[in-house]
Amino acid sequence: MKLVIDVKRCKGCNLCTLVCPYRIFQAGTKPNERGIIPPVLDRPERCANCRLQRLYGRVICGSCQMICPDQAIRWEEESPNEPQKAVVEL
Ligand code: SF4
Ligand code: SF4
Repeated sequence: MKLVIDVKRCKGCNLCTLVCPYRIFQAGTKPNERGIIPPVLDRPERCANCRLQRLYGRVICGSCQMICPDQAIRWEEESPNEPQKAVVEL
């Protein structure tokens, strides 16, 4: 599963940046075409929900989604051909 911010709904309140235990949501710096600065995702593949939602058949964490006042956070199925990015944390 892939973590997605719907930038059409996001109002840049940054509440999501306060709750993620992995600090995946980071305050953005670039305004979009609506003048909103949406957060950016730092290595979203670390999200517990992305990794375990399929295995357990339910949302595992979801704090970011619950706190978002605009329902702008969701998970999408990944294409089986989507390249996987391996990140080595030092
Ligand atoms: S579901 Fe939890 S771990 Fe995943 S991005 Fe949201 S707050 Fe972070
Ligand atoms: S909580 Fe929702 S509306 Fe607020 S910045 Fe995060 S994604 Fe955007």
